[in-house]
Amino acid sequence: MTTASALPDALSDTARSFAAGPHRLLIGGERLEAADGRTFETLDPSTGRPIADVPQAGAEDVDRAVRVARAAFDDGRWSGIAAAKRTRAMLALADTVEAHADELAELESLDNGKPVKLAKRVDVALAAEHLRYFAGWPTKIAGETLPVAQPDMHCYTRKEPVGVCGQIIPWNFPLLMAAWKIGPALAAGCTIVLKPAEQTPLTALRLGELALDAGLPEGVLNVITGDGETGAALVDHKDVDKVAFTGSTAVGREIGAKAGRALKRVTLELGGKSPNIILPDADLDVAIRGAYQAIYYNTGQACNAGSRLFVHSDQYDDVLAGLVEAAGAARIGPGLDPGTQLGPLISAEQEERVRGYIEAGKAEGAELVTGGGARDGDGYFVEPTLFSATSDDLTIAREEIFGPVLVALPYDSIEEVARRANDTEYGLAAGVWTRDLAKAHKLAALLRAGDVWVNTWSAGDPAAPFGGFKASGVGREHGREGLQAYLENKTVWVNLA
Ligand code: ADP
Ligand code: MG
Repeated sequence: MTTASALPDALSDTARSFAAGPHRLLIGGERLEAADGRTFETLDPSTGRPIADVPQAGAEDVDRAVRVARAAFDDGRWSGIAAAKRTRAMLALADTVEAHADELAELESLDNGKPVKLAKRVDVALAAEHLRYFAGWPTKIAGETLPVAQPDMHCYTRKEPVGVCGQIIPWNFPLLMAAWKIGPALAAGCTIVLKPAEQTPLTALRLGELALDAGLPEGVLNVITGDGETGAALVDHKDVDKVAFTGSTAVGREIGAKAGRALKRVTLELGGKSPNIILPDADLDVAIRGAYQAIYYNTGQACNAGSRLFVHSDQYDDVLAGLVEAAGAARIGPGLDPGTQLGPLISAEQEERVRGYIEAGKAEGAELVTGGGARDGDGYFVEPTLFSATSDDLTIAREEIFGPVLVALPYDSIEEVARRANDTEYGLAAGVWTRDLAKAHKLAALLRAGDVWVNTWSAGDPAAPFGGFKASGVGREHGREGLQAYLENKTVWVNLA
């Protein structure tokens, strides 16, 4: 058990006292230890030191949480109240998140390693924005009256909440991914069992408490902590109607298969190996800055990282020189250090994986242009790393690395680069840098990806659908489509004759 005083000095008293615990599963209005008393440690990736013990929910705890969520769904304490009341409760939650922005940002930075300023400006701010966007939906969820051919028949549709949702989130944007998931579920009238990643349980636990403070009825948002086994028990539970998952493609495939067999509703947001294409007429300074951010933001730990950079042969050397310069200036350090631009990777395991890819790149003959090293001291740090390669078949050009490793590849024609960009099992995102509108739209149509960004990267909005083609996922989050994934359609026929 860690004591509050062993945590980093940079933490405020508020964040420190929450981080130190004790931590409990949030089920209904109760704060519970795991039934078998098991716990695990969450670590500070900037030092490798333990932050606190967190309950490891087992099958019994999952069952308890799902039963509570089921009861809360069935008695209508959430789905049955006036839509405008759901809106008000969700707006109150968004306000509460914002009111605790500093604390949440510190907790995220401590648990995940990301720069605390970014955690506040991006993760916490966008979490509140997503909740607020979806808070607007309850009063707009409406069916239709249908002009059916049969005379004297009144036919209409109702949009009903899908039921109890098991939501499993990753460690790269823990609070934000939780907000992406709970926003549409709450708006639809569903109840939730939310499971954060074992590497980063803290902000989800705090979010669960804040939801109760904000006046969400007990049992509507339950938070259970644990690892993949806990997640699997949640997916397997017969009373879970819908599973929403963000994480690795390997686990996503397994969850998709299980959901298929059980005929549960499922949405999956998975991996990527997203191509970023700089056309010869692009504003090179802007494109270089964009390409840099596209891969190194969040230390490369983003499903939509621009990890394959295609540069026209004529600009290849200039673009690589610009990236080397930017990478050399990056300030790598602990997330809670206010000067840090690039935090550590999430875990020793992830560091080892990323280093393995760097070794594979060298062994398979890619040129290591910059980076590849570590930083002195503890913590899971990897420098921003750039490889230059000519073959699309290298391991580092095909597999998702989920770290600060970019592979640059030269090309000569648009048709060629579109074909090569699409030659991947993934299809989450793609980018094009150009001043030529016609070429931008032509490539946008050719690229097989859920998001195409032109002269920008990672633009997003709660109103704009996000998700993957091919092995990058099933379904979309955000916007009307994101909400739809939490609704069932019921068609009602009334014989008026
Ligand atoms: P990573 O390998 O980067 O940790 P994962 O896909 O394993 O990514 O993890 C993402 C989330 O899925 C985490 O919350 C994790 O606990 C959970 N998880 C891992 N394995 C399973 C599984 N077999 N079933 C359900 N959830 C799982
Ligand atoms: Mg941690």
